[in-house]
Amino acid sequence: VSLSEFDLIERYFRGCGAKRADVRVGVGDDAAILECPAGAELVAAVDTLVDGVHFPHGSAPASIGHRALAVNLSDLAAMGARPAWSLLALTLPQADESWLSEFAAGMAALARAHDVALVGGDTTSGPLCVTVQVLGHVPRSSAMLRSGGRAGDAIFVSGTPGDAAAGLAIEQGRLPAGEDAAAYLRERFLYPAPRLALGECLRRYASACIDVSDGLLGDAAKLARASGCGVEIAHDELPVSEALVHAVGEERARELALTGGDDYELCFSVRPAHVGRLLVELPPERWGYTRIGTLRESPGADVLRDGNVMSLSDCGYDHFRHS
Ligand code: ADP
Ligand code: MG
Repeated sequence: VSLSEFDLIERYFRGCGAKRADVRVGVGDDAAILECPAGAELVAAVDTLVDGVHFPHGSAPASIGHRALAVNLSDLAAMGARPAWSLLALTLPQADESWLSEFAAGMAALARAHDVALVGGDTTSGPLCVTVQVLGHVPRSSAMLRSGGRAGDAIFVSGTPGDAAAGLAIEQGRLPAGEDAAAYLRERFLYPAPRLALGECLRRYASACIDVSDGLLGDAAKLARASGCGVEIAHDELPVSEALVHAVGEERARELALTGGDDYELCFSVRPAHVGRLLVELPPERWGYTRIGTLRESPGADVLRDGNVMSLSDCGYDHFRHS
């Protein structure tokens, strides 16, 4: 490693994020040494963000740093895991100091908020590309899987999906919106909030869980498929934010809630017998989640409106896939 690479790592990445007592060796040696709690299982996820593919070219560096970690934390949230450590493989066209300091600050703020320590990585030169790996843990055999759902289970989603897709469209100048709505929606794309606290609590209630990264309808269908069933979603029940309705109208807001991407919310199923306990012990108005449908025996995913099955194009599927 050249001196400048060494300096770059020392300046921006050593000590980035939380300080944790279970990091025996962090950034600086050939590999990190981490202490796992007894009785826990290690949960690992990795995701790559490519410039111009997963974020618009020229995005705020703080947002890139935040999102690269957030998308991984969201995967751990979906398992009901608690994150502890992360690794960063960063490919950069050049070592731009102000870019690096904002990128590291964006990542560090989210890492500290969730008690995650950056314990290692790799730095290379080339077109901008950010890969983050997150490691965390769950008590043995307690993780939520996609495959645990059964026909009859209720399906829920956290937050207000669709916001991030509108935020991205605003960011790219494809969607005009009033100032307040635009600020809120852009923030939802640029700085998604991984639902870690909800994920951990849901271990006690959910039969299956997935994080919503590619659009609610598609991701709910993935959960259903992994569970060996299908899913029905009630169009009327889709939670949409005021800002989204303000920006695109009620009809398109629901299309975006079904098919937009980059939400990083949780979609989860709960056995009918446990729904009552869930609603009492994790009040939906406090935890921010909504029942949107039911798992069913017959495969596939349908959206129901006034008792009728909507066509995929009426759901906005074709429109947003190809736009
Ligand atoms: P090696 O050549 O042994 O792979 P490097 O010289 O690439 O090691 O890295 C030196 C140390 O800095 C290692 O501990 C590595 O994990 C860490 N590191 C390198 N790049 C990053 C980065 N972008 N973020 C965090 N840690 C990094
Ligand atoms: Mg080495």
